[in-house]
Amino acid sequence: MRPLEGRTALVTGGSRGIGAAIAVRLAEDGANVAITYEKSRERAEEVVARIEGLGRKALAIQADSADAAAVTSAVDRTAETLDGLDILVNNAGVFPTGSIGEIGLEDIDRALAVNLRAVIVGVRAAAKHLPDGGRIITIGSTLSERVPRAGMSIYAATKSALSGLTKGIARDLGARGVTAVLVQPGPTDTDMNPANGPRAAAVRAMNALDRHADPADIAATVAHVAGPAGRFITGSAITVDGGSNA
Ligand code: NDP
Repeated sequence: MRPLEGRTALVTGGSRGIGAAIAVRLAEDGANVAITYEKSRERAEEVVARIEGLGRKALAIQADSADAAAVTSAVDRTAETLDGLDILVNNAGVFPTGSIGEIGLEDIDRALAVNLRAVIVGVRAAAKHLPDGGRIITIGSTLSERVPRAGMSIYAATKSALSGLTKGIARDLGARGVTAVLVQPGPTDTDMNPANGPRAAAVRAMNALDRHADPADIAATVAHVAGPAGRFITGSAITVDGGSNA
């Protein structure tokens, strides 16, 4: 039997990159999976088709993470359509750049809304549905621990806040047998941080393994935390960065 057989997961921002890899990996492990997306309807439908091709149920929901009502409704719709919710993966994120005096308020508000407030809103909505053994897994960043160059303070701030949030949620929901874990990727080859982009060589140079992660590398850690072997991991952060912060 597959480790997530009979489970349902919701992955926010599952149309591309790390979120798509997580959605497919959880389906490979047996789960039915819903994903949200903001703009990429076709890409989201491709992910749904891949999951259905594995013999699982799948659902793509357009929901801007900056819109609290949309996030709440995506959580409720997942539970109604796919028969409950066992695993919430908060993955959707934006990466605004700019020095602290120059970055615009609009970008700051958007980063706070998508990278932080949406996680809070999603967890509040999911808490109603998650059973004993439920999992909350949030995708942070190694930049919460070390910011190696200028122009990333707002992004780093949103990702650092997830650490305290995860610890608090672990305490809030631990008595119910629900765990909360932060997975912190380092540079990962996606549209957000392409391995052939202009900064790729500099990014790789900081990395002990001299390469970007493949999104599947991050998904493998999420699958471990989501599965039976992850049942005693809670309130902690797991860094998956190829030694970038070593
Ligand atoms: P991508 O930009 O490749 O993909 C982002 C995903 O999030 C897409 O599915 C996108 O949907 C979705 N998304 C973005 N904004 C919203 C929104 N407002 N509402 C709903 N969905 C949204 O990013 P990555 O896959 O690289 O990043 C995934 C997560 O991993 C993020 O939290 C990021 O901060 C984190 N991370 C990434 C690293 C990297 O090097 N790539 C390193 C460390 C952390 P759509 O397709 O519709 O736009």
